[in-house]
Amino acid sequence: MTLSRRHFLGAGASFALAGCAAVGGEKPIARVVVVGGGYGGATAAKYIRNWDPRIEVTLVERNEFFVSCPISNLVLAGTKRIEDVTLPYTGLGRYGVKVVRDEVTALDFDKKQVRLARGESLPYDRLIVAPGIDFQFDKVPGLAAAESSGRVLHAWKAGPQTVALRRQLEALPNGGVFAISIPKAPYRCPPGPYERASVIAQYFKQAKPRSKLVILDANPDLVSKKGLFLKAWSDLYPNIIEYRPNSELIEFDAQRNVAKLQVEDFKADLFNIIPPQQAGRIAQPLISVNNLWVGVDFQTFESAKVPGVHVIGDATAAAPGMPKSGFMANNHAKVASDSVIALLTGAPVNREPILTNTCYSFVSDKEAVHVASVHKWDAAQKTVVPVAGAGGVSTARSALEGEYALAWARNIWSDTLG
Ligand SMILES: Cc1cc2nc3c(=O)[nH]c(=O)nc-3n(C[C@H](O)[C@H](O)[C@H](O)COP(=O)(O)OP(=O)(O)OC[C@H]3O[C@@H](n4cnc5c(N)ncnc54)[C@H](O)[C@@H]3O)c2cc1C
Repeated sequence: MTLSRRHFLGAGASFALAGCAAVGGEKPIARVVVVGGGYGGATAAKYIRNWDPRIEVTLVERNEFFVSCPISNLVLAGTKRIEDVTLPYTGLGRYGVKVVRDEVTALDFDKKQVRLARGESLPYDRLIVAPGIDFQFDKVPGLAAAESSGRVLHAWKAGPQTVALRRQLEALPNGGVFAISIPKAPYRCPPGPYERASVIAQYFKQAKPRSKLVILDANPDLVSKKGLFLKAWSDLYPNIIEYRPNSELIEFDAQRNVAKLQVEDFKADLFNIIPPQQAGRIAQPLISVNNLWVGVDFQTFESAKVPGVHVIGDATAAAPGMPKSGFMANNHAKVASDSVIALLTGAPVNREPILTNTCYSFVSDKEAVHVASVHKWDAAQKTVVPVAGAGGVSTARSALEGEYALAWARNIWSDTLG
């Protein structure tokens, strides 16, 4: 494969490159440690090795398997299984990435080391931090207790909670009321909650048609693909979905299953509460925006606070119009990998990165819609901004887009994990 790495920057997720063998026996020219093997971290680990196999790359991930949030709403709806969204990390070995299964417990910027739960420390020349999000359970009184009891789930990190919420939905009686609580933006995957509501409503329509699904949205309006979701709901689920804006969760009473909202108290048989979010906790010392997110230089994804440390994915404070998505994290990873290689080898950094995003959402078991955008460095504003006229949304939902959505998932899994 002779194409240069610059060829691929911003080109999306559909390029799964042939693997480069590790440079056997030779001393690496530099060491990169990547914290977190999700959409951002796994992509960065793979692409650094792919583009410069002289660099040693160690990826530290706490989980044994990669479980994809994209497509996980279909597991809740019963049209996919958790196995369908669960992938191994073994493909990264082909690129010479060392995958360490452990919890990173501390980042030591002075010694340039990350500390692991088992006690070992990993030295680095450059560090990539990609921990995704963590939840702010303490922000809503009663939520931490409800969550730890296992009765109220978020299922906003795909895995055991996805399976458990599916079981709760199956156990809900026909005629039961199910409520989804959405936090104020920004949160991971802006259209995700509306996709979740749509596909669960489809399940209710088939399996328990007297049930209701109430969306309690803390935001004043749908934050993504508004017209397309509203049309799907009124065409397909007019007696099932009810949408309530300005319904921020203030407190949760787990004893009575009552959500205290700003305007009223709301009782349901089953709640799915998506909590307010922040950068993954290991990134805490890097947080510089609103006490929640990590500010970065979008030319390199280097932290605004600590030189030599690059932060990618959902943990970053987004540029204007930039969603917290798997596709975007994958693009962050490619820009950051290119910069890390340049900075380690003395090559010039690409000062004009371009990133792209397409988010598909299912609105039924087969039909989907999309939103797409292109984001380009703007020297005057010193950030990346959406390119006018380069994006947009579907004109209408279709089964063809449903096929594209599944193909997109297969492509990005291959691009991310090898
Ligand atoms: C229901 C749902 C549907 C979605 N659908 C889409 C979609 O259709 N398209 C799309 O583009 N995006 C979608 N998203 C969003 C997407 O999942 C996220 O934007 C993406 O996962 C962000 O990637 P990331 O690498 O920042 O974080 P993650 O993918 O969450 O990866 C972070 C990783 O870091 C690990 N980690 C964290 N801290 C530590 C530590 N201290 N030590 C070791 N490991 C650690 C975690 O275990 C995790 O594996 C969806 C999200 C949800 C919830």
